[in-house]
Amino acid sequence: MTERTGQCLCGAVGYTLAAEPLAVRVCWCRDCQHLAANGTVNMLVPAAGLSHTGTLSEHTTVADSGNSVTRQFCPSCGTHLFARSSARPEFRVVRAGTLEDPSSIRPGMNIWANSAPAWACLDPSIERIERQPVPGGKPAPAQA
Ligand SMILES: [Zn+2]
Ligand SMILES: [Zn+2]
Repeated sequence: MTERTGQCLCGAVGYTLAAEPLAVRVCWCRDCQHLAANGTVNMLVPAAGLSHTGTLSEHTTVADSGNSVTRQFCPSCGTHLFARSSARPEFRVVRAGTLEDPSSIRPGMNIWANSAPAWACLDPSIERIERQPVPGGKPAPAQA
């Protein structure tokens, strides 16, 4: 198991991930496009494996599923780091771009591909899911 570290743009928030990601996905939902101007690359991780230093601000929205999604970001530089869903409190989503070494993970699927813009570059060699992957189901195994 590799222990991974990461931080926000200004360095006020740092984290350690002491668990392997359960899945790595590029998300093309409209919320992610608002946040990142593109798809976001996210790791689904067990909440127990994630620890952080520094203070986070939060913003909660209600998803189409009716679950509330809380996104956490650095109040100084605005970098989005983590998210969690009310439906699955045992997991966290970590924005892969904040990793010290983003090459240490590899996306295994595009999700919400249905709402990707016409100009989006989606890797055809990985799984394509038009909307939410397996709602309430078991997370897909992490890619090697
Ligand atoms: Zn920051
Ligand atoms: Zn998204």
